[in-house]
Amino acid sequence: MGRGASTVKATTVPERLAANRFEIDEDESHIVIDQALCRSTGTGRAIIAVCPAGVYSELDDGTIAADYAACLECGTCLAVAAPGALSWHYPRGGFGVSYREG
Ligand code: SF4
Repeated sequence: MGRGASTVKATTVPERLAANRFEIDEDESHIVIDQALCRSTGTGRAIIAVCPAGVYSELDDGTIAADYAACLECGTCLAVAAPGALSWHYPRGGFGVSYREG
C-alpha cells in the first residue's frame, strides 16, 4: 500500500443500517393508519411495497400494521399514500433513528 493510502473496509447497506441506533417511543406511534382509506385506495399495498425498512405488513384480517420502531424517517410512504390514508410525523424529540453511516 502506498504512502498516504488508507484502508477502508467495504460495508454492505444492511451492515450500515444495522449500525443505526433507535430510541423507541413506547408511548406514542408517529405513524397512524386510517384502515378504511388505506383499504379503499390501495395505499396498504403501496406502503408495504415501498418502505425500505419493512415497517408495514398486512395481517390475516387485512389490517395494515406499522412497526413504527423500525422507521428510518425517509418519508417514502407519505409520497405514495393517498391523502388522509396515513398520518405520519417525525418522532417526538429524543426518539427515532440516529444514523451512524450517513
Ligand atoms: Fe418506511 Fe420510510 Fe415510511 Fe418510515 S418513513 S415507514 S422507513 S417508508
